[in-house]
Order: sequence, then structure tokens, then C-alpha cells
Amino acid sequence: MKYIDSHCHLNMDELAGNLGAVLRSARESNVLRLLVAGFDEPSSAKALALAKSHVAEGVFAAVGIHPHDAKTCPLGRLPENMSAWVRDERVVAIGETGLDYHYDLSPRELQRECFRQHIALAARTAKPLVVHVREAYDEALGILRENAAGKNGGVIHCFAGEWRHAVESLDLGFFVSFAGPVTFPRSTVLREVAARVPLDRLLCETDSPYLAPQPWRGKPNQPAYVSAVYETIAEVRKIPVETLAEQVWQNAARLFGWGV
Ligand SMILES: [Zn+2]
Ligand SMILES: [Zn+2]
Repeated sequence: MKYIDSHCHLNMDELAGNLGAVLRSARESNVLRLLVAGFDEPSSAKALALAKSHVAEGVFAAVGIHPHDAKTCPLGRLPENMSAWVRDERVVAIGETGLDYHYDLSPRELQRECFRQHIALAARTAKPLVVHVREAYDEALGILRENAAGKNGGVIHCFAGEWRHAVESLDLGFFVSFAGPVTFPRSTVLREVAARVPLDRLLCETDSPYLAPQPWRGKPNQPAYVSAVYETIAEVRKIPVETLAEQVWQNAARLFGWGV
């Protein structure tokens, strides 16, 4: 059995401080491909450095500016370095980018402009987008549609929307990725969505160090725990976890072009 973790933050201190053990435990748990997502300029540089130095462990990078950090991009313009980083073969996606209206840590107009700039960069470099959305699904999906973002595809990471948002994401050509919350007892709606998304458009992730799945909820999360996400989704879909893992492996290879 081979798992992928389609979104984690080995570039954050919680995991970077313990990297050897975290990667060893991932490998022991058969997590053989990991996508490290950047969220600001330094963490994007770090994601790329990790991908370059941990090729054997299956580490790849996405570079981007999280909507929380859009305020670090004057007028929404991306850091100069970004276009060079994106061209590196270890960078398989652009993100995370998107809209987060829950915390509003950056002004919304800046979040929107920064998001559009990522979409434009994805169009120029033909790489898929890693999209973060919180309490802004209609608007984020609208921006993706207006800017023809489906062309190079992407993923709505840590999906937490309603079924209609999943339908629209799929319609745009996006994948839908589920994280720890799908395992939480109260996430009935999310599990229903996870049961209905077409099997060939689904991904699994940890978003570690955040959002540890059951039974580790409340503890620091790590890529090794992604198996709990797969197990929950396999259970609600009434399929063997091996079947799900194999399909998700193929899906990620198709989206990120990192080989099978
Ligand atoms: Zn996110
Ligand atoms: Zn993230």
C-alpha cells in the first residue's frame, strides 16, 4: 500500500524541527509522496529546499502566498522570486492561494488580487493550483471560473464546503482534497461529500501540523496520520482502503505530473 499526503507543512517549525523523525514515521506508514505547500515567501523557499534535499522521501513543493499573507504582497503582486521557483522541476503546483474570510488577516481586495496573480502564474507556467478557501466558496469559485483557472487544473485543499461547491469545483476541472476534519464525529455533511465525489477526482491530505484526524485530534498532526483520512473515506464509500489509496495515488500523479 502506498499513500500520498497531498498537502502538508514540513516547512513549519512544528514539523521542520523534527524532520528526520517525521519523515521516518511517514515512510514507515507508507506515505511515499508528500506535497509541501508554501504560504509566504520564506516558507515557499523552504518548501523548494526540502523538495530538493528529500527527493528519495518523495517530497515535492508548491510555492505560493496564503490569503492570510496577501498583505505581504503590495497590490497583490507576487514576490519576484516566485516565477523562478515555479520553473523548478521539484515545484509541481502553485499555492497555497485562495480566499480566507474567516480570519480576514489580509484585506479582502488584496486577497482577491493576490489570488488572481497566482492564477495568472499558473496559466503562464502550466502548473496546477493549490487553493485554500474558508467561508468564501462562492467568491473563490467565481474567481477561478472568471479567470479560466481550470485549464491547468488544481485542487481545492482541505475541502470544507457544501456538496454544491464540490460540484462546481469538479465542473471547473478541479480535484477535491479531504483532510482530518472528515474523520471528526460531527462532520456528517463532509463525509457525505467525500462519499459522492467521483473516485478519480479525490485527494487526501493532512494539512499537518494542523487538524490531526481522529484518534490524534488535538495533537500536532504529521503526514504519517494521513492513513486515518483514507480509512474514513474508504469506509463511507464502502470500498477497500487499498482501492482508494491506489486511485488517489493515480489521481495525484495525473494532477501534479510527478510520475507513478
Ligand atoms: Zn490551507
Ligand atoms: Zn496548508
